[in-house]
Amino acid sequence: MSNYKLNENQIAIIDKLNLEFGSTDVENLFSLNDHSVKELETLLKVANALYRSGHPIIEDKMYDDYLSYFRDLDPDNPFLSNVEPEVLIDSKTVPLPQKMLSTDKAYSFEEIKKWTERIIKAASEINFDQKLIELKITPKLDGYAAYDDGTTLYTRGDGTRGQDITRAFQRGLQVAKNAGRALGPGEIVIKKSYFDEVLSDKFENSRNIQAAIIAEKKIDKDVQKAIDEGACVFYPFSALEKWTGSISELLSDFENILEKMWNAVDYDIDGLIIETTNEQIKEHMGATRKFHRWQIAFKVNDESAQVEVLDVIPQTSRTGRISPVAELVPTKLSGATISRVTVHHYQMVKDKGVGKGAILQIVRSGLVIPKIEKVIEAAEPQIPSTCPSCNSHLIWESDHLICPNKTDCPAQTENTLIHFFKTLGNVDGFGPKIIEKLHGFGMKRIHEIYECIDNQFTGFGFGEKTAKNLTDQLIASKTIEIEDWRFLAAFGVSRLGAGNCEKLLQHHSITELFDVSVEEMVKIDGFAQLSAEAIVEGLANVRDEFFKVYGLDFNLSVTPKLSEVGSSDSAIAGKLIVFTGSMQQGSRGDMEKQAKSLGAKVGKSVSGKTDLLVTGEKVGENKINAAREKGVEVITEAEYLDLISII
Ligand SMILES: [Zn+2]
Repeated sequence: MSNYKLNENQIAIIDKLNLEFGSTDVENLFSLNDHSVKELETLLKVANALYRSGHPIIEDKMYDDYLSYFRDLDPDNPFLSNVEPEVLIDSKTVPLPQKMLSTDKAYSFEEIKKWTERIIKAASEINFDQKLIELKITPKLDGYAAYDDGTTLYTRGDGTRGQDITRAFQRGLQVAKNAGRALGPGEIVIKKSYFDEVLSDKFENSRNIQAAIIAEKKIDKDVQKAIDEGACVFYPFSALEKWTGSISELLSDFENILEKMWNAVDYDIDGLIIETTNEQIKEHMGATRKFHRWQIAFKVNDESAQVEVLDVIPQTSRTGRISPVAELVPTKLSGATISRVTVHHYQMVKDKGVGKGAILQIVRSGLVIPKIEKVIEAAEPQIPSTCPSCNSHLIWESDHLICPNKTDCPAQTENTLIHFFKTLGNVDGFGPKIIEKLHGFGMKRIHEIYECIDNQFTGFGFGEKTAKNLTDQLIASKTIEIEDWRFLAAFGVSRLGAGNCEKLLQHHSITELFDVSVEEMVKIDGFAQLSAEAIVEGLANVRDEFFKVYGLDFNLSVTPKLSEVGSSDSAIAGKLIVFTGSMQQGSRGDMEKQAKSLGAKVGKSVSGKTDLLVTGEKVGENKINAAREKGVEVITEAEYLDLISII
């Protein structure tokens, strides 16, 4: 067993637990092979507190092992029947509006099947028609549990009493999907992709960030930025992506359904929640002190393995980047056979020696795509000098190898076409195989494929049925309504994913967007100089093709503009305003609407781009000072009302 050395943060947290053990004793607890009941209980309390405060000391699996051992030793210990408490901010606790329980866990198909049998049994006890039993599956977010009653945001605490962390909303924390307030239980989470790209250098794990969002002390500036950019959100459970269906549907396609839900959100998850939605059954089954009987969490332990690399294959992506794909000796991980893993980039292949015969440590968290954790044994890497698809000479662009052939590289062309249809997402006939064939017939542009509506794909060697099907699908893809941001994202411009497309289209129409300058774009919240430059350049590159395709008359629904013009003569027209605190004149929502109708833009949090901060009651001095530091004009509600009535 290895030695556990506590760091400063961990010691500070353990001190708050008021244990009978000193921190050195606690340290030793983790190195012992045998524990008394008391020692084991202390170990669990400590591990839980450290985990929840973002400074974990042992892996989840080990915690669960200790817990199950503890359960065998002392099944009636009160620790087991209480909800594992969230930690530990130094402020008083308040009763929660509604009890927040934790969830019973299952680790296998068999256990889930047994649980569904209990649901069926409960249904039959109350004469509930079995055929009407509905199950719901949602991702189990791995964030910081909280409860929003519309005015206050609470921590889960011990499940009955929590702490007031409404300051997280005052700091600009948004509700996921703009789902609104007062939706009850949820989690404070941070986007995985954002964490990896922006914050992983500065923070050890996403728990540190969740802790910073709610901390009483001054908020870290990088965390504030993540909040401002919408990367951190409060995600109410009721707004989550979900699967619904019958028990037999779930059991007959268990792995596929679970894998799909596991990858449904860009947030860390540590399992899936499976529950019945039928109120009568829920009421009949009830809850233990610790969890609801009508709900269960399906979990998969992280598994890692050391695997030998058979070969590293270069693959040209849509953008011209060459991805190194390591082919592996097939290995079982969390229930699936893994035979390949993508290496970040060729710089890593070169630096770490990912070559034929190298040994990699790969890890699979739950049901997500496996990742390389480290290179255990290096081998001579092979760095390609030409594009595997078009033979162009490759060039380095920071850490990546790039195929510079933007006009005539088959892989880039095919992947661009595949990306288009995949992003539109309203028909499914244009997958990689069909696209490869069409490309083989010389079709390189999206509009060229649409021209086939007239010639019915004849002369391409497709069967009559396939040809008809493809024609029908092309027509359908134009007729079925799609959001304009999705349509724009389908062109695959770098840094123009769905989220950024929607943000831009809230300010400019899709055709105007092609004439927006970098200077204009950086004025929009969330677009820094470098992104704006890349987007403007990317739009210019696809301009011709975009307008050819746009001219084909797709059925686009237009993204609503943030500020509809019409009141441009008001004193606040064109200004970016943030409202904070409770207002006298009406609800904050009403005031925001009114401001928009007067031509202002309304932000959720103060940034350097904010013009005015309107303060209602109960606004902290810190917040006002912070706004002033950013050069924002701070006015009271009364002053604001004066301002808009002058006109
Ligand atoms: Zn190429």
